[in-house]
Amino acid sequence: MIRAVKGTHDLFGSALAYHRTVVEATRRWASAAGAEEIATPIFEHTEVFERGVGQTTDIVQKEMFSFSDRGQRSLTLRPEGTAGVVRAYIEHGMKVRPQPVRLWYAGPMFRAERPQKGRQRQFHQTGYEVIGAAEPEVDAEAVALSWWILADLGLQRLHLKLGSVGDAADRARYNAYLRERLEPHAGELSEDSRRRLQTNPMRILDSKAEADRRLLEALEVRPMLEFLGEAARKHFEAVQARLRALGVPFEVDPTIVRGLDYYVRTSWEIHHELLGAQSALGGGGRYDGLSELLGGPPAPGVGWALGVERVALAMEAEGLSPAPSPGLDLYVVPLEPELVPRALEVAARFWPELRVQYALKARKPGKGLQEAEKKGARFAGLLGPDEAAAGTLTVKDLKSGEQRTLRPDEVKEWIRGGTA
Ligand code: AMP
Repeated sequence: MIRAVKGTHDLFGSALAYHRTVVEATRRWASAAGAEEIATPIFEHTEVFERGVGQTTDIVQKEMFSFSDRGQRSLTLRPEGTAGVVRAYIEHGMKVRPQPVRLWYAGPMFRAERPQKGRQRQFHQTGYEVIGAAEPEVDAEAVALSWWILADLGLQRLHLKLGSVGDAADRARYNAYLRERLEPHAGELSEDSRRRLQTNPMRILDSKAEADRRLLEALEVRPMLEFLGEAARKHFEAVQARLRALGVPFEVDPTIVRGLDYYVRTSWEIHHELLGAQSALGGGGRYDGLSELLGGPPAPGVGWALGVERVALAMEAEGLSPAPSPGLDLYVVPLEPELVPRALEVAARFWPELRVQYALKARKPGKGLQEAEKKGARFAGLLGPDEAAAGTLTVKDLKSGEQRTLRPDEVKEWIRGGTA
């Protein structure tokens, strides 16, 4: 048997229902804020991510699915959404529109990580980007939307952790401090973190390795927040004030350093209490230099992504069900073999107003009704020679047992009334 690739999943049934529920909630809130939907390709030229996500990040160094096209250009399955959206913003000259431009998306992302609960190689995100504004209002707007979408899904055991990674110069000072502080203890760091010490010391703070955690604690390493310059500090305070005014509960978390190189200033994550090691449902940040990194005009931006599968796990953990997909309205049963083609015609006449299927084999009435129930239909329609001659259908309400012989328009009316 050929199985799905490790770390990928088929979405159907209740998994798909959760998925759709998360995407719909994102659509509702993002549209309410005036965002336009965008669907960028699932693969891009590799440099979009190398430049956009950053050479020193785990994503670029070890998690990308890259391959060569026939002309030997390197392409990569997108590991995240923002770089592609900003690439599209530049390519389509969205800078000439009234700024900022608000965009939202939903789709699959790909990372070559070790699969475990809450971590796949193909997973899905919904995301929101505000491009072309540097004001703290849009940071607050973005944070609030990510929070309200999760709250709207019914989730309660959420924690919004807000931080600031400062401006580029602040980060440079902080990285220099970290290097100086950690260099003498490099031998005690994990292998990954020894590498990070050279490339991007801030990423060490994100490390899950026990050795790294112990060392950081023992050395009482100061948090990034203490290194914010005047401008970044003011911005951070303004964002917090706006969030308080909007009634969004958050905690300032000095340890928030998100995995992408392009973040500046505001960064945040939303965690769920019941998810264990992979508890981040989503996160976001400000990325003021990203457009220039991709060869575009200055276009400061802020955005977030939610992990759809993680949100689904959180909903399950809190006993929240997705909206069930609607079942069949009607199941048409031909009573004679030669009436099978007619059953198709009768069913098709009700599409797309009603959800209707038909049996491909003639059935006795009792068997036909049983089959309709198994299919989860609300009504069964029996099609015998009399009905075929008269252009009617004998319809039975499978809940009440009531039965009527009706013309198609009457059938529609009865079923609509019955399922409204
Ligand atoms: P990131 O772009 O890494 O901040 O990811 C945003 C969100 O996407 C995370 O908070 C997770 O909910 C989700 N996510 C990231 N990587 C994975 C993965 N490999 N499998 C499942 N969900 C993921």
